Amino acid sequence: MTDLFNPNDLDVHSGHFIDGEISSGGDPQFDVIRPSDLGTQGTLADASAQSVERAVHSARRAFEQSGWATMAPRERAGILRRWADLVDRDAALLARLESSVSCRPYQEVFMRDVRVVSGSLRFFGEYCDKVDGRVTSTPNDTLSLTLSEPWGVVAGIVPWNFPLILSAWKFAPAMAAGNCVVLKPSELTPYAITHVAQLALEAGVPRGVFNILQGHGATAGSALVKSPEVDYITFTGSTATGAQVMADAALHGLKPVSLELGGKSPQVVFADAPQLDAAAAIVAAGATYNAGQVCFAGSRLVIEASIEDMFIEKVVKHMTKFRIGATWSKETTLPPTIHGQQLERIHQIVTTTLSEGAELLCGGQRLEGLNGAHHYAPTLLRGVTPEMTVYREEVFGPVLAVQTFESFDEAVALADHPTFGLAASVHTTDINKAMSAARQIQAGTVWINDWGRRSDFTSPFGGYKQSGHGKDMGLAGFQKYRKQKAVWILGQQPAPAPSGEHRLAG
Ligand code: NDP
Repeated sequence: MTDLFNPNDLDVHSGHFIDGEISSGGDPQFDVIRPSDLGTQGTLADASAQSVERAVHSARRAFEQSGWATMAPRERAGILRRWADLVDRDAALLARLESSVSCRPYQEVFMRDVRVVSGSLRFFGEYCDKVDGRVTSTPNDTLSLTLSEPWGVVAGIVPWNFPLILSAWKFAPAMAAGNCVVLKPSELTPYAITHVAQLALEAGVPRGVFNILQGHGATAGSALVKSPEVDYITFTGSTATGAQVMADAALHGLKPVSLELGGKSPQVVFADAPQLDAAAAIVAAGATYNAGQVCFAGSRLVIEASIEDMFIEKVVKHMTKFRIGATWSKETTLPPTIHGQQLERIHQIVTTTLSEGAELLCGGQRLEGLNGAHHYAPTLLRGVTPEMTVYREEVFGPVLAVQTFESFDEAVALADHPTFGLAASVHTTDINKAMSAARQIQAGTVWINDWGRRSDFTSPFGGYKQSGHGKDMGLAGFQKYRKQKAVWILGQQPAPAPSGEHRLAG
C-alpha cells in the first residue's frame, strides 16, 4: 500500500471558530477517532449552551453590524471568489484534514470534494449581483416591487459522509445571499471545515459572518436549532433527526427549515438497456461507492426478469472486485465504515433480511482493516420483497437489494418507494420509456443510463417524500436563503375605499 500522507503529521484545531477566533471556550473535550486505523486524530470541544449562544450571537452581530448583508453584491461576490482561490491554494491540506477522519479517500477529496467547495463559492458568488427582485403586474397607478432579502442568521447542520461538500452546499449560497452562518459539522469529521472558515477571514469575509460550532448533535445541534437568534435552518442528515429538527424548529420560533434526508434509491434496468456490461458497472458503483455511505446510494436494483440472471452475474463480478484500506492509501477502493456501531447496524440489517427469506449472492460479512478498522464486504441480496428489512430501512452501507419486474408498470411501481424519494436511475435505450419512468417515479433526481457521476452546481438536488424538502444547489439552492418582501408605491392618491371594503383580497 502506498500512503499519500501520514495522518499523525497533521495539526488539528479542537476549538470552535467563533467571531473569527478559534477557541474551545472552556468546553469539555472528547477524542476524534480515525475510521481508517482507529487512531486518535485529536480532540474536539463539545459546545456548551454558552458556546452555542456565543456563536449565534456572533452571527447576529455580524448580520447587523459587519456590512456583509448590505455591501454592494458585487463586492460580496469578489470576496467569495478570493475565498475560492484560497480553498484551491490549500487543497492538499484540506484533503488531508478531511480524509484523515472521514471515509473519503484522499485523492477523491483532493480532486473533487475540495473543488466542490471552491466551485460552490464561485457559482453562488455569481448569483450575488445577478438574481434580481421583480416588478409585478399591477394597475398603472401603482408600482409593486418584490424585494428579496437575506433571512439573517442561518444555522447549518451536516453529517459525516461528505463533510466538505455538504457544508459548502449550505454556507456558500447562504452567505452569497447575504446571511451570516453558524455551521455545526458532525463531531466525527470536524477539522477541514475549520480551515475553510479561517480562509474566509483571509479572503476578507468579516468576523462573525461564518462560525463553526463543534460538538454533539443531541446537545449542540439541538440548542442551535432552538436558539431564538436563528432565523433559518438548513439540515442534512437522517430522516429521523430531520423530523426532530423540524419539530424543534416549529416549537421554538416557527422557523423555516430545509431538509436533505435519507434515501432508498432504485436503479431500474430494462432488458433494452444500452451496453449491459457498462450498466452493471454503474449499478455496482451506485451501491458501493464510498462504502455505500451516500444519501443517494443506488441501494435497490429493479431488474427486468428476462435478463436477471445474466445481469446479476455481471454486477456480482464488479462488487467482488475491491481493495479495503485506509483513506490515505493510494490503492484503496473500499474505504472504511465510519464506526463499529454503524458496521454492526449494516450487518444486522443483512442478517435479518436473510432470515426473512432473501438470498445472499456475495458479501454479507465484516472485513478487518488497519488495526481492526471496520469494513463491510459489498453485499448483494436477491429476492427482496417490500416486507423485508433491507427494503424498508436505509442501510448506509455497500448493500444492494434486488427486485424483479415483468412489465413497465410493475417497474415503476417497484421503483417508487413508499417512504423515500431522493433519487432513481432508469437504464433503457427507449427514450419514451425513459421519459415516462422519469416523470412517474416520485424522486427528486432521476438519471437516465447513469448513476450520479455527473452533478453540477446548476442542477437542484433534494428529495421528495421523507427524503426531505427544499433544494441544495441550483437557483433554488440560492433563493431559499432569501425571503421576499412586497413594497407598494401608489402613483396618485386613490379614492377612499367604501367603508368595510378590504383592498387585499383574501
Ligand atoms: P444524523 O441525522 O444522525 O446527523 C446529521 C447531523 O445532525 C449531525 O451533525 C448530527 O450531529 C446532527 N444532529 C443529531 N441530532 C440532532 C438534533 N437533535 N438536533 C440537531 N442536530 C442534530 O445523520 P448522520 O450523521 O448519521 O448522517 C447520515 C444520514 O445523512 C443518512 O441518513 C443520509 O442519507 C443522510 N444524508 C442525506 C443527504 C442528502 O443530501 N439528502 C446527503 C448526505 C447524507 P452528531 O453527528 O453529533 O450526532
